[in-house]
Amino acid sequence: MELRDKFGRKISYVRLAITDRCNLRCQYCMPAHGIAIVDRKELLTYKEMYRITRVLSELGVNKVRLTGGEPFVRKDFVNFLESLSFNDKLDEINITTNGALISNHIDKLEALNINAINLSIDSLQKEKFAKITRRDVFDEVYDTFEKLEKSRLKLKLNVVVQSGFNTDEIIDFIELSKTKDIAVRFIEEMPFNGKGQRDMKEEWNFNKIINHVKEHYPIIETLKDKKSSTSRNFKIPNYKGTFGIIPAFTRTICSDCNRIRITATGMFKNCLFDGGVFNVRDFIRNGASDEELKQLFISTVHKKPENGFIAEAARGSNISESMSTIGG
Ligand code: SAM
Repeated sequence: MELRDKFGRKISYVRLAITDRCNLRCQYCMPAHGIAIVDRKELLTYKEMYRITRVLSELGVNKVRLTGGEPFVRKDFVNFLESLSFNDKLDEINITTNGALISNHIDKLEALNINAINLSIDSLQKEKFAKITRRDVFDEVYDTFEKLEKSRLKLKLNVVVQSGFNTDEIIDFIELSKTKDIAVRFIEEMPFNGKGQRDMKEEWNFNKIINHVKEHYPIIETLKDKKSSTSRNFKIPNYKGTFGIIPAFTRTICSDCNRIRITATGMFKNCLFDGGVFNVRDFIRNGASDEELKQLFISTVHKKPENGFIAEAARGSNISESMSTIGG
């Protein structure tokens, strides 16, 4: 038994949101006052998350990304990681985090063989970072960055390219890869800001970002991307690390998508842009067996929309969610 959609795409990767809560208020993600967080009992419990992941892994999912909200704000998250690490069907456990709360956990993450950490950092300038995140935690995040860089964990930086805010730092970020073995990934900004509209001065899409980089470097190597990679990847010759661009909004990566998402309240999503297909939490709490869960996953994945544009058109409501609710 496996998860395959009607376009022949095999699903092997789940992104699981640990919580909808976050300690930051990034301006492209949430309004300043935050989003309406759900009641605690509506969140999946760790036991439920463990079960969902186990059942999915029996259907061929071998890669999990833990995200949120901010996963490290949920109590006992590190213990949950430890339980997950016993699932030997999982080849990779990855975490996306803002890094503000994790510098004390890095040894433990190494001991648990966590594969990669995606650290979100949108500016290398303390004041600008505070403006973007609406919190004064740059020093903590930078400390985490330095510790992760020295650790055995693979490190990717997530930089949301924000028109009028941090586009002047694109080259500074690439320069970090000169001596550091990191992958810097520039993400196109999406309309998931908890406000329902996308107000930007100028759209910094994939083409604009890469053309900007080309103006600064005479030679850029194009790397061969891993199948189903979310980013198109490049390297400046002789630099230790790489950089990439995630066409999150222009959606040119859908044809070999291998991902599904489970939100913090258990909503199953076939696509970042769909409105959610069904609630796994309710299904589990109503007594579903593992076999029933498997059948539900198989039939739902079969209906995965061909791409993010079709998913968005079918959702029937405007996008007013925050990535913190969706699970970034
Ligand atoms: N709190 C964690 C973090 O900051 O990495 C995990 C959750 S966060 C929602 C995951 C990623 O989504 C972050 O890299 C964040 O910058 C990105 N993100 C959030 N809203 C976005 C948007 N509107 N457009 C593009 N990326 C966004």
